[in-house]
Amino acid sequence: MRNMNVKEVETAISKLCIQSCCHLPEEVVATLKKTTGTEESPLGKEILEIIIKNAQLAQDTDCPICQDTGLTVVYAEIGQEVHFEGGDIEAAIHAGVADGYTKGYLRKSSVDDPLFVRKNTGDNTPAIIHTTIVPGDKVKLTVLPKGCGSENMGALKMLKPADGVEGLVNFVLETVRIAGPNPCPPITVGVGVGGNMERVAELAKHSLTRHMGEHNPNPKYAELEAEILRRVNLTGIGPSGLGGTNTALAVNIEYAPTHIGGLPVAVNLNCHAARRAVVSL
Ligand code: SF4
Repeated sequence: MRNMNVKEVETAISKLCIQSCCHLPEEVVATLKKTTGTEESPLGKEILEIIIKNAQLAQDTDCPICQDTGLTVVYAEIGQEVHFEGGDIEAAIHAGVADGYTKGYLRKSSVDDPLFVRKNTGDNTPAIIHTTIVPGDKVKLTVLPKGCGSENMGALKMLKPADGVEGLVNFVLETVRIAGPNPCPPITVGVGVGGNMERVAELAKHSLTRHMGEHNPNPKYAELEAEILRRVNLTGIGPSGLGGTNTALAVNIEYAPTHIGGLPVAVNLNCHAARRAVVSL
């Protein structure tokens, strides 16, 4: 059994909030650069160059990549040999988010009573926390700030098993077309398949934690990712939605067992600011 004070988690989360909002992962920048080389539209190429320059400026000055620093999604993979002491682990994660968003001068975007009052909570809490218990004595924390331009364009459909691969592909392409410029392309298309209504939404979001260039280990799904990416890039939406051959950087599919009577599919789009920061404690 390993003892860990929750303060360690709070401090780590605070740092990850600032890191993720200001420093785009290297492999995302590398993918954007590669994309610039293949973009056929001169305007699209120019926009990609501006996006890369913006990411570089944010990196150099510790400023947010985008004004929308999102709701804070936190993945906590907790080793079953870890014993937390010094307080409540969930409260520590929320406190870390509040600290990071305050110290990093990150925009606080969370509003409570979303229907009638919409009052800003003042510190970007509550975080949206996904906890999994895993073997071992480590704690892996992933922070994924998610802006609403892209989050608003997600969709979920309870397909029938007979809809099959074609039904899934059509739904994903329809979602991307409806989204158009709103999710700030070039996008990452996160796709969840299976589970039930809430599980499929989690799968789609979790697929956005994947590294650029990483594919589903199941070759059939990896092939489908490549095929959907090809077709998304044929839509012509392009960088910032102003036309071009690069609408998406990646398509990531995650799947889980489902009911014999269903084929749930969820699509969660991420913008060019594909922010993510990870630490293992
Ligand atoms: S979708 Fe992304 S890049 Fe666009 S405004 Fe929102 S956070 Fe910023």
